[in-house]
Amino acid sequence: MHNILDTLAKKTTEHEYYTPVPEGYVRGKTKYVVVFGTVMSGLGKGIFSSCLAKLLQDKGLVCEPIKFDGYLNQDAGTLNPYRHGEVFVLDDGTETDMDLGTYERMQNKNLSADNYLTGGRVFAKVLAKERKGEYLGRDVQIIPHITGEIKGFIRTTAVKKKADVVLIEVGGTVGDFENSYFIEAMRELAYEEGKENVCFVCMTYIMEPATLGEQKSKAAQLGLRGLLASGIQPDIVACRAERKVGDKIREKISLFSNVPVEHVVSVPDMESIYFIPDTLKESALDDLCVSVLCLEKKVDKKDEQQATKEWQDFVQKLRGARKKITIGITGKYTVLRDAYASVMKALEHAAAYNNVQVQIKWIETTDIEKGKLSVEEAMADVVGVIVPGGFGSRGAEGKIQCIRYLRENNIPYLGLCYGFQLALVEFARDVCGMKEANTTENDPKTKFPVIDYLPEQMKIVGLGGNMRLGGYNAELKKGTKVWELYGKKETVRERHRHRYEANPVFLQQLEEKGIIFSGKCGDLIEYLELPPHPFFVGTQSHPEFTSRPLSPNPLYVGFVRAAVDTKRLR
Ligand code: GLN
Repeated sequence: MHNILDTLAKKTTEHEYYTPVPEGYVRGKTKYVVVFGTVMSGLGKGIFSSCLAKLLQDKGLVCEPIKFDGYLNQDAGTLNPYRHGEVFVLDDGTETDMDLGTYERMQNKNLSADNYLTGGRVFAKVLAKERKGEYLGRDVQIIPHITGEIKGFIRTTAVKKKADVVLIEVGGTVGDFENSYFIEAMRELAYEEGKENVCFVCMTYIMEPATLGEQKSKAAQLGLRGLLASGIQPDIVACRAERKVGDKIREKISLFSNVPVEHVVSVPDMESIYFIPDTLKESALDDLCVSVLCLEKKVDKKDEQQATKEWQDFVQKLRGARKKITIGITGKYTVLRDAYASVMKALEHAAAYNNVQVQIKWIETTDIEKGKLSVEEAMADVVGVIVPGGFGSRGAEGKIQCIRYLRENNIPYLGLCYGFQLALVEFARDVCGMKEANTTENDPKTKFPVIDYLPEQMKIVGLGGNMRLGGYNAELKKGTKVWELYGKKETVRERHRHRYEANPVFLQQLEEKGIIFSGKCGDLIEYLELPPHPFFVGTQSHPEFTSRPLSPNPLYVGFVRAAVDTKRLR
């Protein structure tokens, strides 16, 4: 068949087309699954898509996800986590939406900037190209230039990652102004790649109003109609609903959307996101995608059996855990639940590994500062506490009071980034006699800046901007607890997102009083511990970003184990 891409890829002013095709791209070699949402946001489209990516990967296919977000920020670094949820950091330092964390956890693999695209990034690229005159005098337009760059990005990822399948999740819902050009790009993609190479999946919502007590499909029908009006015929419709979607409703959806009823699948609410892959498999969603894309020959049954078994072992552990422990996290639940999504997930993974269930108690440390809550009260029913990453002075003194209590009372403590820094401040003040010790983030004039901004150090480690971002190796000190927890590895790698560091000027004084710096990246301190305390560990990194259900992070595993062993366990 004539390859349409050969015509479209021509860089010329004589044609209306603009479709940059990367070198080495072969049409049909990579197949595409595109997931859209209709009716409303908040249905768990990201979770659904990551489960689907996992199921395709389990079949032995190289499945690369791409999340598209319509907003005009170039990445998630400038988004307020209290508004938008956690900023997830990839190993290459890309700051992304928290959905990328879900893909990494589900697929158990590292992603990169090739897996994340925002509207801002697409526009920035087109505008920069325009200034360089790369559009050969053409008037630069949403179609074909913006849509062309989007397809170019997707195809580049396909080539770079040698993907069998690229799974694209279109953020937002059909009908949003913000992602309309992206949806248009997907329509063009299907035309250019050919029908057997692109599978459109539409997630919709089946309402069940309490006053009626039955499922209603009208809103879903209208949502699907919106997608059809964009020139996209779905191959599969995934119906989110509180309860299992009945056959009558599935038939109605089928009738109104030209989708065979077997391709209309029910995705009811689940207790845990980890139960979703099995549910999707029961409706054969993964096999449906394979058959739409004619990928049967590439499926490896053995790989699939092995992967399914590993997953089911994890799910069984998760379901089987009876014993409950309560872990404190400093912060305000209502504000921070999404801001600390990865910390909570990492705790969940470590809990399943240790056969327990973790309950979280949020400790509002500004209440401690104001005297509304005593530290003893706050700590009364917890067997371990995490002070997670954070910025600024809000609640910092209260956190320091908590850390002191945990240190003095032998209660397990895990300090993450800011929690590591404040542990050093607390120790310097209380044990080393540096009464006014602080981080210069909160007191720029402190006499004892044990945590400071170290531009010189940052240059040595080769960092660009003023934030240390992404994965860095740390060399561990033999014989330490951290070294032991990481399976006696000499070098480990965790991700970072911070400005300040432990100040080398004070390290010796701190060490003399008993702190052990168990890991370093060059001269920068990465880990601290405090023997003989049963578990007092801090890290400048964010180990939660690398924790996965099938490979929980060792620091979290050790922390949960120590918490289980705590004498205060009732
Ligand atoms: N505010 C601290 C810093 O910038 C810690 C940041 C964090 O916890 N991610 O260094």
